[in-house]
Amino acid sequence: METQSTEFPQFALLPVELRLAIWFYCLPRRIAQRDNPYVVQRFREEHKCWSVRPSLRNAAPPCIASVCRESRQVAMRWGKMVWQDYDWNLGPIWFQPQLDTYHLNFIPEAAWDYGWDINEMREIREFVINGLNWLDAFSLSLPAEYCFDFDLEMQDLSMMRYSPSIETKDDVVDEDLNIVYNEYAYFQSRPFTWVSLSATMAFITIHTKRRHAVASGLFGLLLDAPVQLVDFDDEQKIRAFRALFENDSSNRKRTKVIELFSLILSPIFRSRVQAWREKVDWLMMATAWVRAKKKWVNCIPFDDGNPLSAWNPTTEEHGDGQRVVFMRNEHENYENLFDNDNPWVIQAKKELPRVAPKILFMLCTDDCDVDGDVGMVPSVPHRFTRNDFFEVSGYEQL
Ligand SMILES: [Zn+2]
Repeated sequence: METQSTEFPQFALLPVELRLAIWFYCLPRRIAQRDNPYVVQRFREEHKCWSVRPSLRNAAPPCIASVCRESRQVAMRWGKMVWQDYDWNLGPIWFQPQLDTYHLNFIPEAAWDYGWDINEMREIREFVINGLNWLDAFSLSLPAEYCFDFDLEMQDLSMMRYSPSIETKDDVVDEDLNIVYNEYAYFQSRPFTWVSLSATMAFITIHTKRRHAVASGLFGLLLDAPVQLVDFDDEQKIRAFRALFENDSSNRKRTKVIELFSLILSPIFRSRVQAWREKVDWLMMATAWVRAKKKWVNCIPFDDGNPLSAWNPTTEEHGDGQRVVFMRNEHENYENLFDNDNPWVIQAKKELPRVAPKILFMLCTDDCDVDGDVGMVPSVPHRFTRNDFFEVSGYEQL
């Protein structure tokens, strides 16, 4: 086989704008993580991954920042080290507002592991404020359950709410609104079409050798984008990740990951995600409707002044001002759906954010021991170690 040359001495002779374009192309497109996935002990055990190195690599400056002055300038033009003023983090992270997605990699279970009781609403609020206002990110991502309950294992249905509903009475509104959209609307003006919003339906760690990962091209040109989001129905791409996973024979012992791949490639998974998306869309619309009815800031106003005309059939209000709106009430067999011919409904559908369901993949090139011997992986110092490379700033200084 012909060996490819790894040298290209003519690079310096290229016009400067071409060199800059090449450096730009070498920048990673990252899923920058707020938090560390391995804080959840269950994930560590299921995936048999004991390393924090992937998270650190994902948070470090891009590889090309260390090549030369010119490439470093390109890296600094697009990204910056930011301090995370937040409880659950590994320290400062590198963030490229226009290139990266800002991902809330946190579920309440992580806090329970530590015996902490956390307020989900506060977590979401701070994430949205940090992402949209301080980091200038227009691409946000968060675990699916923050939008609406989703049972990945499809087992514990008794714990799940089957269908969304909203209850209103006078000035009181229950907390069953779409909290992400509700937070957007407090801080940003309409419309919300500029925001790209993803929800992660499943999380999979891929263990493989570095050379295999580079050859696959799935984790960035230079392997410095070890976290990736893939559309839940992009079968071809998901199969490419599975092929990379299967390439390493030691992964045969990672039975949980094998199960996860079968699950996310199954038609039943896809139909459940579609059903989940319909519920999220309904809840997003119902949240916009409550905001409009209450005339809250940045709401989409009713042109005809009649909030009830948005529903088909029109919902009934009880004498005391109480109203319960169900997407689908199984017991009494009725639905509260939006009237698609209503001007407010048409406008709201046009300008509300649409949630894109994704699968989150993470690359680990460490020799994490599949038999559970944690000592196999050298420990990685993981706090306050990355801030000596570039100046570190708090969000508020951006
Ligand atoms: Zn690992």
